[in-house]
This record gives sequence, structure tokens and C-alpha cells, in this order.
Amino acid sequence: MPDYDTQTLRDWDRRHIWHPFTQMKEWEESEPVVIVEGDGSWIVDSEGNRYLDGVAAIWTNVHGHCRHEINEALKAQVDRLEHSTLLGLTNDKAAVLAKRLAEITPSGLCKVFYSDNGSTAVEVGVKMAFQFWRHEGQPEKSRFISFTSAYHGDTLGAVSVGGIDLFHGVFRPLLFPTIQAPAPYCYRCPMGRGTPAACGMECLAELERIMESHAGEVAGLVIEPLVQGAGGMIVQPEGFLRGVRELCDRHDILMIADEVAVGFGRTGAMFACGREGITPDIMALSKGITAGYMPLAATLATQRVYDAFLGEYREMKTFFHGHTFTGNPLGCAVALASLDLFESDRLLEKLPKKINKLKEKLQGLIELGHVGDVRQCGMVAAVELVRDRATKEPFAWEERVGVRVCQEARTHGVFLRPLGNVIVIFPPLAITVEEIDFLVDGLAKSIRTVTEG
Ligand code: PMP
Repeated sequence: MPDYDTQTLRDWDRRHIWHPFTQMKEWEESEPVVIVEGDGSWIVDSEGNRYLDGVAAIWTNVHGHCRHEINEALKAQVDRLEHSTLLGLTNDKAAVLAKRLAEITPSGLCKVFYSDNGSTAVEVGVKMAFQFWRHEGQPEKSRFISFTSAYHGDTLGAVSVGGIDLFHGVFRPLLFPTIQAPAPYCYRCPMGRGTPAACGMECLAELERIMESHAGEVAGLVIEPLVQGAGGMIVQPEGFLRGVRELCDRHDILMIADEVAVGFGRTGAMFACGREGITPDIMALSKGITAGYMPLAATLATQRVYDAFLGEYREMKTFFHGHTFTGNPLGCAVALASLDLFESDRLLEKLPKKINKLKEKLQGLIELGHVGDVRQCGMVAAVELVRDRATKEPFAWEERVGVRVCQEARTHGVFLRPLGNVIVIFPPLAITVEEIDFLVDGLAKSIRTVTEG
């Protein structure tokens, strides 16, 4: 139990915490739920209420909360070494983890650059790609292609390659301009087409046109493989990612895959790129890397990218980038314990049954009057609520339908977060099939209550 009563904690929070992505005026008038414990797929508040964690501690949790084996690994590491530095030294856990990451990521990624959150992992990738072409004697290759609805984090470089106006618009004057390509948001196809089968993925043809019109200018393309997360859990049609890889190859553009949200099993495979059999030139990892325990991130690169940075000191080919907590041994020890659990729990082997269960349960939601689209990729799913299914007219933003559905879900013991009118389902991978029932049933009831009165 916490050291202070709920009201005291709420008061201190309202007085002193400035919450992320939160209208604080509203928050100050609310009675925040104070989470004090975690247990498997559940989180527990200071009053003893339990909620199924439908967002996996903001898309990070893999093996459940407070998993004994990870707790023990963390305790053992903290008794040996809490932090050192990768500036002039290495440490055992960082070295072992780098080797294992090189083994499990798509073949060809062999160099690991550590940082501590998803935004920096992407930003490192962008800077690497930019500097790479300078070393290759092609400094004119300096621009980036990114996608509409993309989200790569909140630091300025990551925001520059983002494409969500609501979050990023205000900062535009501070950002470097990018070349935006249409995301394959099939429910609201930017090319005005129907299903991917019917259109032959015209968005790929459009991407190629964009590459051709910027021939010789593009350093890299940044993409969230298979699922665009914060943009609304937009699931890409099969083959899109492979098509992007082919286009990057054809136009000699470095492909930066942001697997911050989808890495570590989320899509049913260890990495989303693996599902389409591709290797990006650069890959950003965070969130699931420590199964949701510690802030850690890694940017992986191929030998080709890395080799461009080798030279005599005076040649100024060094990658001048690094954060204080780079390669933190606590984070690395936890990441190693998580990888062990993937094996000992045979987690990936168990996923198809859960994925099918989720799929079957989601079928039930399609019947609800205001569910416009249900999309799923492995253990991530989204339900897009609309005012009118026939016209796909969205609910007005001010109606806050998504927020209200998630608020209602709490009364059914389920914690969810919306992205506008899209309800995201992103539970710990350790969730059981019975818990999937509970989660989707709670969501269905909540959607009914809010949208049907
Ligand atoms: N990339 C993707 C795809 C993400 O979903 C996120 C976070 N939601 C980030 C980058 C940024 O990660 P962080 O919040 O750890 O900076």
C-alpha cells in the first residue's frame, strides 16, 4: 500500500505534475486514478480497484506487470552495477544485449547504438542517415521521406518526420521540412480507392513518383512497419512494407524502420520487418525492449551504414551523439531477462491462439452501429468509431467519443486510451484468452453505452 492516502496523492499530483498530452485544466478538475501496483495483465489503484491493462503501460509491457524473473534480474543487477558509461568504457550487460539483438533482428543489422527512449532511437537513425551520405560524398542526399499520420516521438527531429497535425502542427516553424508520402490508410484511402486488392496499392506507385521527383535528394525514408501507431493504429496492407523496401533499394534511399511500438512480438513475429522478410538499413527499438520495465532504446544499423563512419580521427567521421544513460546496465539486464522469457515462456509460439481469439472477439464489435472499422495486426487492434457507417462521417472531435468510451470502460474494469475516435487495444502479450474475452466484452459494453445512449 502507498505511504499516503489517495486524496493526498491526488492533490500533490494536481498541484505538481504536468501530464503529457493532457489538457491540464480538465485534469485539475478530475479525480485521477492513482496506480500503486501491477500484477500480470492487471493494474491496481490506491483503493484496491483492478483494471485490465489494455494499453500495456503505454505499449511497452510484454510479460505482464511485476514478472518475478525480471524483478530478480533487476535486483541482481542493482547489487552489482547501477550505471557506468559507454564513453570510453563498455559494460557486460550492454555487450551481451548488443550481441543478442544482432542475432534476433532481421539479418544484416549488426551494430547497436543505445539510447533511452523511442524518440531518441528514431532521431539517432535520422542523424546517422544524414551523416552517412556526407561520408559517402553525396551531401545533396539530405532530405527525408515520411508518411502522413506518422508518429516517431516528441523530440524535434522525431517531430520533423512526424505527420500528425494535431500534435505536430504548432511546432512546424521549428522543424526541418520533410517530403510527405500518403500512408496506406485503407479505410480512408488517400488515393480515393477501395480495398488494397482492388487498387494494387496505388500509394506505392505514388511513393515511387515522389522518389523520382526528388531523385538524388533523399537520404532516408522513415516508416513505422506494418502499423502506424499514434496515427490511429493504421494497419498496412500485406506487401506494402516489402514494396517500400524495394523502392528504397531502387532509389538508393536508406530505410529507417521505427519498430519502437511494434518490435518485440507485437505483430505476432519478433519484429514487424521480419514478417515481410525485409531488413531495413536502420531500425529503432524501445518500449518492448525492456518489456516495459526501464527506459532503454537501441538503434541498429547495417555494416554498410556503420562502415561509412570509420576513418582517422581528423577525418571527422565520428558519430557525435550520445546520452548520459546510454547502455544503462539496469535496462540492459532487464532486456536480457525479457529475451530469456520470450524463450522459456515460448511466448511467440503461444501468440497465434491469442491473436485468433482477439480476431474472433473483434468480429462481435463490427455489428455495433457506430463501429466504422476494426483493424488488427497480431496483438494490436483498433476500433474506429464513426457517426455514420455508410458515409464514414467521423464523430466531431469535441464530442470526445473515444475519451468517453475509455472512461466508461473503467467501470467495467478495463483501462484503455483512445486516439481521437479510435480505441486502441494493446494488451501485454502475456494476456490470457480469458482476459481477452474480458477486455473486448468490457469495450463492447462501453461502446454501446456511449454511442447508443
Ligand atoms: N516511435 C513510435 C512508433 C512510437 O509509437 C513512439 C511512442 N509512442 C515513439 C517513437 C516515441 O517513443 P518515446 O515516447 O519513448 O519517446
